[in-house]
Amino acid sequence: MPTVKAYAATSPTGPLTPTTIERRDPGPNDVLIDIKFAGICHSDIHTVRGDWGPQSYPLAPGHEIAGIVTAVGHAVTRHAVGDRVGVGCMVNSCGECIHCRAGEEQYCLAGHTGTYGATDRDGTITQGGYSTHIVVSENFVVSIPDGLALDVAAPLLCAGITTYSPLRHWGAGPGKKVAVVGMGGLGHMGVKLAAAMGAEVTVLSQTLNKRDDGLSLGAQRYFATGDPETFTRLAGSFDLIISTISAAVDINAYLKLLSLNGTLVLVGAPPEALPVQAFSLSMGRRSFAGSTIGGIRETQDMLNFCAEHGLGADIEVISAGQINEAYERVLASDVRYRFVIDTATL
Ligand code: NAP
Ligand code: ZN
Repeated sequence: MPTVKAYAATSPTGPLTPTTIERRDPGPNDVLIDIKFAGICHSDIHTVRGDWGPQSYPLAPGHEIAGIVTAVGHAVTRHAVGDRVGVGCMVNSCGECIHCRAGEEQYCLAGHTGTYGATDRDGTITQGGYSTHIVVSENFVVSIPDGLALDVAAPLLCAGITTYSPLRHWGAGPGKKVAVVGMGGLGHMGVKLAAAMGAEVTVLSQTLNKRDDGLSLGAQRYFATGDPETFTRLAGSFDLIISTISAAVDINAYLKLLSLNGTLVLVGAPPEALPVQAFSLSMGRRSFAGSTIGGIRETQDMLNFCAEHGLGADIEVISAGQINEAYERVLASDVRYRFVIDTATL
């Protein structure tokens, strides 16, 4: 079993520290990837801190992985040594249920296997991308098109697909008024993608501090949710709202911004419940929905779409020694707009 360098949490409260982890020997259908860059997703922070439930430690997070294939099992057909590839939030699923067969492995009826902190089919706990190498079944490895640099592509594997999938599902495009709530990692990709799809995009952020960035990424309008006037002014405005907020907020205030038949999709995953008042939905036949990442085929579609439209994430590349500081900055909404670890510094 290869032993590789990694950065891992050893408890919900302590810092992440350098360590080593074991990777399995590549099986017939596996790909060994030399990880070049790994994005820091807010989900990494929720997970290592136990926001969503207890974890087993040490835990190396990271599900925005971009790298180069360095070995393949003998039965691998999709990828070859030297290929530029990515791995996102899942590394396995049952492959047989109705959702897996439809290419929506993220909704596998047996539960997909998360890239880290999940029990793999062989009983081991998966370890993520804050490491130098990973071994993944070829079915969960996507190709990074030539036009996309690996560092700006890494965040697309989670932040990109998590916003792309609901934008597609709910028909973002010309004539649709879309609001993206939260200008963080997911939010900034949501703005870029919705604008590239042709929708009219509005950003709702806590303040106007990132307004210039939002407009340059493709939004037409930008409002501060810290100003109560925003909620009066925009009442009944949007066909689709994508909320990327990582904390609990009064969701009723946002539901009232939907037009008749509009849908608010929660992709942000605060640990707290979000109580909904009946009239927030019934007065306007509104829908409150959720969405998680996207299937492997759709992830490849998203990467191809990003390459065609020249879209990557706006990133700040950091060394491994800056991971803990980066976590604090993400928690303080002080990220423009994704931290990406240069794994050569591990
Ligand atoms: P992020 O970079 O921290 O962005 C979250 C944004 O939410 C912040 O930039 C901030 O935007 C806004 N926000 C934070 N706290 C807030 C508060 N108390 N009130 C109002 N707005 C607040 O995080 P991310 O990586 O984009 O992830 C966002 C959420 O999505 C996390 O909960 C994460 O776990 C979840 N997630 C879900 C999926 C999925 O499959 N559904 C996938 C990935 C991530 P402003 O500064 O603009 O106000
Ligand atoms: Zn993520």
